[in-house]
Order: sequence, then structure tokens, then C-alpha cells
Amino acid sequence: MRSGRARPAPGVVKIICMSAVFAGIVFFAMGNIFVTVCMIASAFVLEKNLYRCPNCDHKLNMKVPLTAHPLCPACGWNLRKK
Ligand SMILES: [Zn+2]
Repeated sequence: MRSGRARPAPGVVKIICMSAVFAGIVFFAMGNIFVTVCMIASAFVLEKNLYRCPNCDHKLNMKVPLTAHPLCPACGWNLRKK
């Protein structure tokens, strides 16, 4: 799963997950709770697996916003750089 494979930028992963959660909320408003659960679960799994430093593969803390802490805690890589 690793070794030189291009990873999406953490900012991109965040946007995809936010969209999935938002879509889940829309489905919830439409009364489709099953789809909501699927959307939020997949967003969670996606973020858990892909929200890593693209440089050193260090797992990032989901709760720390990139805007406040744009550098990787392990290698100092700028995570906002595409
Ligand atoms: Zn790093």
C-alpha cells in the first residue's frame, strides 16, 4: 500500500470527506438514514486511511486543522503544498 505511491494531498482528502459528510446530511434531511450512515462511515474510513503526510507517511491527527498546523509533525513537510 505504500512505497512511492502518490498520495492525495491531505487538504484534498479533507475536502472529499467533508463533501461526503455533507452529502450524508442532505440524505438525512431527505429521510434516507441508511445512505447517511454509509456516507459518513466511508468518509471516516477514507480519512483514517488517507489522511497522512504525503512525504513520510506519518499518520496525521484528524482533529488538527491544516490551516493552523500546516507542517507534518514528523518530517516538517508542508502539508498544504500540492
Ligand atoms: Zn511527514
